[in-house]
Amino acid sequence: MALQDIKDRIRSAEEKAGRAAGSTQLIAVSKVQPNERVQAILEQGHRVFGENRVQEAAGKWPAFREEFEGIDLHLIGPLQTNKARQAMELAQSIHTLDRPKLAKTFARLAQEMGACPDLYIQVNTGEEPQKAGVLPADADAFVAEAVAMDLPVRGLMCIPPVGEKAAKHFALLGEIAARNGLTGLSMGMSGDFETAVALGATHVRVGSAIFGDRVPPAG
Ligand SMILES: *Cc1c(COP(=O)(O)O)cnc(C)c1O
Repeated sequence: MALQDIKDRIRSAEEKAGRAAGSTQLIAVSKVQPNERVQAILEQGHRVFGENRVQEAAGKWPAFREEFEGIDLHLIGPLQTNKARQAMELAQSIHTLDRPKLAKTFARLAQEMGACPDLYIQVNTGEEPQKAGVLPADADAFVAEAVAMDLPVRGLMCIPPVGEKAAKHFALLGEIAARNGLTGLSMGMSGDFETAVALGATHVRVGSAIFGDRVPPAG
């Protein structure tokens, strides 16, 4: 079965890299997947999931939470500031802190709500104009800024450019994290999660390799 196969492959990648078994969390990315497929993965005992869009997550996860305990939801898509509150209410982790305005919004809401999800700063390692994330050259300053706001910054996240070898982007993300004293590394997807584990990923985000191809919404 796909889920077990991915878990086995993560284990052997950990072993090959000399890492402790279980040191990589598998985030099952359930965006745009039919609820039956998500339900099936929940019934296999998996509890860590990723969603891209706040609206989709809000339509799906409150009901699953009533049925299954211990769901750990990660938001991994671009986030508008006007959705920040809802995102913070829904998710245990947000991987896409990518600009000062969003950091300030999180800080204000965290004060008000008395809690804040774990945060990962997205770094645009490929310096792609259309992609979210802080530039590598700006990352150290932005980490410092977010930490100074008392935000719970756990690590960094990246999405390497399509068509490039992911390894150098994962290595760069690891370097930026290390020099900023951050331990979390959210990197690796269906096509490259073993490479990510080899380079120290603490969270891999795997969608289609677990669920099958994404089904586009009807209409
Ligand atoms: C969709 C998505 C994934 C999962 O992609 P797959 O190739 O299906 O594994 C991982 N990370 C982000 C940010 C995504 O948007």
